[in-house]
Amino acid sequence: MEIPEGSGLEKYLKDFESKGNIKDFIKPVFEEIMLFLKKKLLITFHDIILTKCYRSKDFDRICLEEGITGEYPLAIIIHSRSFSIPDRIAVDLQRMGTYAKSFVFNFILVVMEELIHSACPLKTELEVGAIMFPLAEEFMGIKLSDDFKKMSENMRT
Ligand SMILES: [Zn+2]
Repeated sequence: MEIPEGSGLEKYLKDFESKGNIKDFIKPVFEEIMLFLKKKLLITFHDIILTKCYRSKDFDRICLEEGITGEYPLAIIIHSRSFSIPDRIAVDLQRMGTYAKSFVFNFILVVMEELIHSACPLKTELEVGAIMFPLAEEFMGIKLSDDFKKMSENMRT
């Protein structure tokens, strides 16, 4: 994947490298993605808790509790059934990639997807994908190939 100069992806990659740890990187990016989606889609969000799983085994346990079978995705959303309880997004940080580039790319993409699920709980995977891909491209300043979109469509939950 090419990283265009001056793109959002380049900015976040530099940010990640300068922070030197995942924890400090995640929170501001999560908030910026949320703000971006609010502006672009004119949506509001339910309260959301981000559960950061630094080890895949912690993430897998959550998937198991949620009854998810088959290959686990990189993130899941657990929709709250009450307004007083926040939605919960769990992310598998370990499987997002060893390289900074893949980690940053995957993190932005899956967080964006789960946030759209949170704001639009009735939309299907296909509908969420159709909303997400152009916004992810805009946010990161890159072009996602059709092959990538198709592949990712099959993996998403
Ligand atoms: Zn999804």
